[in-house]
Amino acid sequence: MAAALGDQLVLSAPVRAIDSTGSLVEVTADGRTVEARHVILAVPPALAAGIQYGPQLPATRAQLLQRLPMGSLTKAEAVYDRPFWRDAGLSGQSLLDGEPVRSTFDNTPPSGRPGVLLGLIGAEAARPWSMRAPEERKAAVLDSFASVVGDGARQPLDYFEVDWPGEQWSRGGPVGYAPPGVLLDYGSTIRAPVGPIHWAGTETSTYWNGYMEGAVRSGERAASEVLAAFDD
Ligand SMILES: Cc1cc2nc3c(=O)[nH]c(=O)nc-3n(C[C@H](O)[C@H](O)[C@H](O)COP(=O)(O)OP(=O)(O)OC[C@H]3O[C@@H](n4cnc5c(N)ncnc54)[C@H](O)[C@@H]3O)c2cc1C
Repeated sequence: MAAALGDQLVLSAPVRAIDSTGSLVEVTADGRTVEARHVILAVPPALAAGIQYGPQLPATRAQLLQRLPMGSLTKAEAVYDRPFWRDAGLSGQSLLDGEPVRSTFDNTPPSGRPGVLLGLIGAEAARPWSMRAPEERKAAVLDSFASVVGDGARQPLDYFEVDWPGEQWSRGGPVGYAPPGVLLDYGSTIRAPVGPIHWAGTETSTYWNGYMEGAVRSGERAASEVLAAFDD
């Protein structure tokens, strides 16, 4: 898809403002301004709230954007020469009730090398552990991994992690979620276009909401809204 779009695909240009007061919508990003008849906004609600809208968004839509926070999630990956745990018949996949890691997955590429073990540190474990010293967190993560696949986990060739709440253009993960009551009070606004602005992103999906599948479905739904508007 990226190859087909060529230089129409622009990266590293965060949108700062969307002005739909004129006959065309004007989208201002870092380094460029684009005019269009319709805009599909596929950024998580918490980040869409940081864009400046003209005219300002309807109150219920603006309040919805205030009420879908990003989750807290850190992802850690340890790299080994090979997925040694498979020799013992272990899958590398687990759910843990301790800390910091709450679940692990075998993230080894299809080629079979190197061996990669992935751990997720989520929610109430993610917040305190994100504030600990990196070396302390790494040692604790490797302890978690060792509890799943054995002591070999303590000697990775490489180790890296991403703290999603610390990422400027994500501010959390895996997605924006609706605390109790939000969908009852504001759910009817979640997919309703605001003038020429159409809302996509996995948070707007009615199926596999919060996953890649939901993101793709939301894009198809928003694209069909725009196509239908062109037909009018
Ligand atoms: C650690 C982790 C593990 C996950 N594991 C899985 C999994 O196993 N399976 C699964 O299905 N899903 C998984 N997910 C969830 C999945 O990543 C999301 O559901 C999916 O990426 C949502 O797609 P999206 O297009 O809605 O939004 P995103 O992928 O969040 O894309 C939004 C984009 O908007 C950009 N952006 C933000 N603000 C602006 C702005 N102002 N201007 C321009 N661009 C902006 C961001 O940089 C980002 O690229 C995981 C997520 C995380 C964080």
